[in-house]
Amino acid sequence: MQGRGLAKILVVEDDENLAGVLAGDLRLAGYEVLSVKTGLAALELAALEHPDVVLLDLGLPDLDGLEVARQLRADNAPVIIAVTGRISIADRVDGLYAGADDYITKPFALEELRARLHAQLRLRRPHNDAIEIGTLKLEPHARKCSVGAAEISLSTKEFELLEILARRPGRIFSQSELFERSYQDLEPDSNAIEVRISAIRRKLRQAGLENVIRTVRGAGYAFRNSD
Ligand code: CA
Repeated sequence: MQGRGLAKILVVEDDENLAGVLAGDLRLAGYEVLSVKTGLAALELAALEHPDVVLLDLGLPDLDGLEVARQLRADNAPVIIAVTGRISIADRVDGLYAGADDYITKPFALEELRARLHAQLRLRRPHNDAIEIGTLKLEPHARKCSVGAAEISLSTKEFELLEILARRPGRIFSQSELFERSYQDLEPDSNAIEVRISAIRRKLRQAGLENVIRTVRGAGYAFRNSD
């Protein structure tokens, strides 16, 4: 998906001074940087350039930043780090719910931003690679799930859901997002996600893995952070 340290970052920021500082700092750190000032320009450029990360100011002059996040996510799903001056917990949850992977509040130190970028990029794995988190191992090409030496029998849908969550530990996925990603063919009001998640939890628990999937009240589900 991206070469180590050579990830492509799209900075979406209407404050020209801040955009300039960010772009300069990130280039020095070895990233390829693109920069735009509006939500529309961000959507257009993201579709052309497929950035690995979008650093997204939520206070944009044209579109609502959260709407931009939703649309970016619908396409090729770059890592989205929301940047905002708003600091309430409610806004934070809104941002994550809309599909941001992480959140940083202005003013922030450049070191902090670089650390978060690094962490997010480290979490991204090439698509067909095995995912190993602690004793849990998922092998997408073989649809095989194991905990230690024990193989866990998951249905296709259960495997898909677990894979979506495990690829992005810590990221909150709403029920509707999980639904869009794996259940295009079912009625949107069915409780399919809930049922599958509890089946996955039960099977993993039987293999000795507790609390792998977190329920985030009012927001969705997240894979337990690795550390
Ligand atoms: Ca702004």
